[in-house]
Amino acid sequence: MTIITRFAPSPTGNLHIGNVRTALHNWLWAKKHGGQFLLRIDDTDLERSREEYVDGLQADLRWLGLHWDGMARQSARFALYEARFEELKAKGRVYACYETPEELELRRKVLLGRGLPPVYERKDADAPVPEGRTPHWRFKLDHDTPIRWTDMIRGEQQFDPKLLSDPVIRRADGSWLYMLPSAIDDIDMGVTHVVRGEDHVTNTATQIQMFDAMGAAAPQFAHEALLTGSEGKLSKRLGSLGMAELRDQGIEPMAILSLLARLGTSQPVEPVTDPAPLIAGIDFGHFGRAPARFDEAELTQLNAKILHQTDFAAVADRLPPAMDEAGWIAIRPNIEKLADAESWWLVATGDVVASVAAEDQDYLQTAIAVAQKIDWSDDPWHGLTNALKDETGRKGKPLFLPLRQALTGQDHGPDMKALLPIIGKDRALARLEAARR
Ligand code: GLU
Repeated sequence: MTIITRFAPSPTGNLHIGNVRTALHNWLWAKKHGGQFLLRIDDTDLERSREEYVDGLQADLRWLGLHWDGMARQSARFALYEARFEELKAKGRVYACYETPEELELRRKVLLGRGLPPVYERKDADAPVPEGRTPHWRFKLDHDTPIRWTDMIRGEQQFDPKLLSDPVIRRADGSWLYMLPSAIDDIDMGVTHVVRGEDHVTNTATQIQMFDAMGAAAPQFAHEALLTGSEGKLSKRLGSLGMAELRDQGIEPMAILSLLARLGTSQPVEPVTDPAPLIAGIDFGHFGRAPARFDEAELTQLNAKILHQTDFAAVADRLPPAMDEAGWIAIRPNIEKLADAESWWLVATGDVVASVAAEDQDYLQTAIAVAQKIDWSDDPWHGLTNALKDETGRKGKPLFLPLRQALTGQDHGPDMKALLPIIGKDRALARLEAARR
């Protein structure tokens, strides 16, 4: 059996970190099983759906490397929904309703006031049709069949259909609500696993009866606990934290994938430069039931750790033009964002303003003399500092710091052993000279 998952965003806004997490888990699961990951645009709501969001979410998924094996748009599939709808109607599983939203709300309040669950009450089939009203449509739950499934994250799930309202599936204007088209598509596309947020658990209960009513087996479900901000709830910021913003902040796609793959699971979050270990490791049995806490600071730290391991070839086209592999290897341990490479590259190869304390001027003088004599072709930093140690008796910070200051204009920075060959003999001598006063 080919594993088929889908990510089914509604194009009514930009992808945020929570949607991306769901997309990632579906993608990982499909990849792990050599299956297919489908992108389904849930754009039945023609009024709220926007083309710019369809384009935007595809660009975001591509940037993240979450490539899809097939794509469909619900707005192109209305004929199929119509056909299934008619079949369900013929089977008595879809029926017309005439209540106004106000009437429904009033009824709900009455039931709640009596301490009863606010479940929709079906009318008798022969109840008079209120004049001048166009019906909307509900799916009729089978009250005699208990709803059960084994959720890959939540375990055994059970719902009494009598305690659920028959879901509205179609509006009076003929437009579709989410519920039925989604189930129709999951069948038609052969979806085997549905991974989505736990806010869909009740929808799943009713959709399980839809699958059954349409003569299809339900897919497997994994309902994941929702994502919360570090402060404990889904903040406005987190709900709107888009990929463009993270990209502009210098966050690498692999940092996002590394964090979101494991957040809220019992597996450790690890910085990885390639999705392979995330694919191999995904296991819904390790997903927790408690909300997963997303922390932007953790993302920033992961980003740095990932850059520290990233190969030159993977980033070469985004580095300063003249920067070579040795430059990248020297500089990468000192960056948090890729853009930081530029300023360190200037420290290595551009103009620096260096100064060295008055009490170190004699030492500087000695360093200039030594720097002229050492072998620059092989580990000049070692050569320079060893010779200076012998000659001046200095060691530790007094040995190294004035040299770093004169050679880079900074007190801290990349490992001098890697940096000095990039600075090179001529530039190094010029900088040592310039630091004299
Ligand atoms: N369009 C739905 C949503 O964004 C899809 C839910 C599902 O995965 O079935 O919530």
